[in-house]
Amino acid sequence: MTNDNIPRDFIRKFIDDDLATGKHTEIVTRFPPEPNGYLHIGHAKSICLNFGIAKEFPAARCHLRFDDTNPIKEEQEYIDAIQADVKWLGFDWGQHLYYASDYFEKIYQFAEHLIKNGQAFVCDLTAEEMREYRGTLTEPGKNSPYRNRTVEENLDLFRRMRAGEFPEGVRVLRAKIDMTSGNVNLRDPVLYRVMHTSHPRTGNAWCIYPMYDYTHPISDALEGITHSLCTLEFEDHRPLYDWTCDNLPVPCHPRQIEFARLNLSYTVVSKRKLLRLVKEGKVSGWDDPRMPTLSGIRRRGFTPAALRDFCERIGIAKKDSIVDVELLEHCLREDLNESAARVMGVLEPLKVVISNYPEGTEEELTAQNHPKNPEMGSRQISFGRELYIERGDFMAEPAKKFFRLAPGREVRLRYAYIIKCEEVITNAAGEIVELRCSYDPATRGGDTPDGRKIKGTIHWVSAKHALPVEVRLYDRLFRQPDPESEGDFMDCLNPDSLLVLDQTLVEPALAAARPGVSYQFERQGYFCLDSRDSRPDHLVFNRTVTLRDTWAKVSGQE
Ligand code: ATP
Ligand code: MG
Repeated sequence: MTNDNIPRDFIRKFIDDDLATGKHTEIVTRFPPEPNGYLHIGHAKSICLNFGIAKEFPAARCHLRFDDTNPIKEEQEYIDAIQADVKWLGFDWGQHLYYASDYFEKIYQFAEHLIKNGQAFVCDLTAEEMREYRGTLTEPGKNSPYRNRTVEENLDLFRRMRAGEFPEGVRVLRAKIDMTSGNVNLRDPVLYRVMHTSHPRTGNAWCIYPMYDYTHPISDALEGITHSLCTLEFEDHRPLYDWTCDNLPVPCHPRQIEFARLNLSYTVVSKRKLLRLVKEGKVSGWDDPRMPTLSGIRRRGFTPAALRDFCERIGIAKKDSIVDVELLEHCLREDLNESAARVMGVLEPLKVVISNYPEGTEEELTAQNHPKNPEMGSRQISFGRELYIERGDFMAEPAKKFFRLAPGREVRLRYAYIIKCEEVITNAAGEIVELRCSYDPATRGGDTPDGRKIKGTIHWVSAKHALPVEVRLYDRLFRQPDPESEGDFMDCLNPDSLLVLDQTLVEPALAAARPGVSYQFERQGYFCLDSRDSRPDHLVFNRTVTLRDTWAKVSGQE
């Protein structure tokens, strides 16, 4: 009954089984971000999994739930951005938008329930003492001296915690489980702490806030989540998740299933680290196009289809690994290759004068918007006596296998004519400033009626009509494949991750470019208008990703 194209990973197989055995007739998943930063590419994996399952299975839905239990780090700005990012990825939570803070009263009542059952107590140990009492991975912990408080005393103290009678850090509410447990998470974990901080949604209604490990299973259960999918670091927390559901009168007991988080080479995916890049000014903001945030890569020109394809290809596994960022780039190129209209843009221009082209005249030539997709149509481009070509498409002393323009050589101008370099003009410093070329009028459109072979085809723009724009070329933000492995990740930032070109000339059609619409600048890569810095009188284009440069390969530059 499910979509057969999606590979059956172990999570989808569990769901198949649960439907087959009748354990569930409806599947409910959730994506539970904490609104303390922007979503990154790692979150995309979790979104595609949770919302993907909701799309694939006939009776299924996915909730978007903000895990907003720590008001110190959380902001409305992040809540808005996260919603925009999930939508941009192509997913929809419908009516099912929730906030853990909506459950604060219920979560509180559940805590009283635990106290009344002798399963929770108010503890006055300092944070430091609590650490000492907790023990280590190899040594059991010790019971808190406050563990045997009576139910009445605990209830009284907890209610006074809520009433705001105590300063922060003096008292917490802890579950009473087992200080000798091999699992440190079960050694009387903290359930509530005092925080005299107002909350983006509940304002000053609360001065005690529940911990994530306690809030999460309750939120899941209250929403009727059937499969609570999370990353591997929560595996050791599962016993506490189950303990919470087992010991509270919650409507159901969701099944927590862990999967490997996404790690990408040359990338950091941790909100804390991304925040540091922003705070220390290493990037221009969360949406800097070099950032692996969804807002950053969207601004850079990545498409939601490419991201979904990528998430599908990496699949869901139980073991952590690092995915090669080239796979992501591959998915992106595949999508953009299909969808992006072709235009010509000269990043580093070199002037060409066609000496035998009649002065004061010009003509319109037809250029295809997509070489393999005639449905994308064609456009007219102006050809005249003065043009610009890419500086790198000319070599005064051509290297072996260089098939572009050189003195005395012919090259094809894309959609135009065959030209021949007759003369190289240099300035006083010996720099090449202009080429004088001749064109062959019999080769209009680039054909050679006499059948002579022209190996190179290069792009160009008309000097009269070209539009000057700024172009930003991006490289990897980090120099090391695994920036998180050794030392401080900030030490391996790539100093050349951004290169700004301000001489670029593009076809006038690009005056109509819009952010989010990708273009292939022929032979150069995929570009899109920058959504933040571009202005009508100063267009800024981001290079999303390069094409594979065959010349760089041949010449050993790659
Ligand atoms: P970070 O480690 O970047 O701070 P987080 O886990 O604290 O991320 P949350 O907002 O709590 O961020 O995450 C929301 C959901 O996204 C969680 O279910 C989490 O497991 C999942 N998630 C976070 N990072 C990744 C990742 N790299 N790969 C897959 N899923 C992830
Ligand atoms: Mg987290």
